[in-house]
Amino acid sequence: MYDLVLKGGRIYDGSGMPSFNGDVAVAGGEIVEIGRITGSAKKTLNVDGLALAPGFIDPHTHLDAQLFWDPLGTSSCFHGVTSVVVGNCGLSLAPAKPEDREAVIKSFVRVEAINRRVLE
Ligand SMILES: [Zn+2]
Repeated sequence: MYDLVLKGGRIYDGSGMPSFNGDVAVAGGEIVEIGRITGSAKKTLNVDGLALAPGFIDPHTHLDAQLFWDPLGTSSCFHGVTSVVVGNCGLSLAPAKPEDREAVIKSFVRVEAINRRVLE
């Protein structure tokens, strides 16, 4: 028996695959199953219409540029992070209108110390 089952959420698992509708089961303080859960639980919550992100979410990263050449976001994923939020501190590479790209590149060169040629 599970401790908790979250039923009917939209699951964003951080794998890079598209999100999908499903359930998340928790037992002993750990996520033990993701998908269509049919087993019983001490507590079941209907989360229809809500997003589920069964993993660590790093809400403040500066991985915007890195994700273009390192889509797994290493080394964040090595520490259990499955989802990251980018575009923090007023910096984001996308979307950028063609006329804004030079300003965006200058910001990343200055603030993130990323080589201009890489960004171009
Ligand atoms: Zn920041």
